[in-house]
Amino acid sequence: MKTDTTQQVGKYLIKVTREKCISAASCVAIAPHTFALDEEQIVKIINQSGDAPDLQLLAAQSCPTMAITIIDTETDEQVWPQEN
Ligand code: SF4
Repeated sequence: MKTDTTQQVGKYLIKVTREKCISAASCVAIAPHTFALDEEQIVKIINQSGDAPDLQLLAAQSCPTMAITIIDTETDEQVWPQEN
């Protein structure tokens, strides 16, 4: 079972930690062209540029378990979750 999925998404690098996902699907509701639930009802990235970066960030922020990490590829800084 693959636990992490990393793909380039516009100016963001999005990483999902599948073992943290509790299938709440709020990420899918906010950015439905980026995230989906697979047959196990666990998040997966379906399109690296499916939604605007702002929506992808909102989707990550909506996740109750912080299963989505977003890194700004221009600065290499982690945008979400905030580290400080
Ligand atoms: S919001 Fe978080 S817990 Fe819910 S489906 Fe997306 S990654 Fe999983």
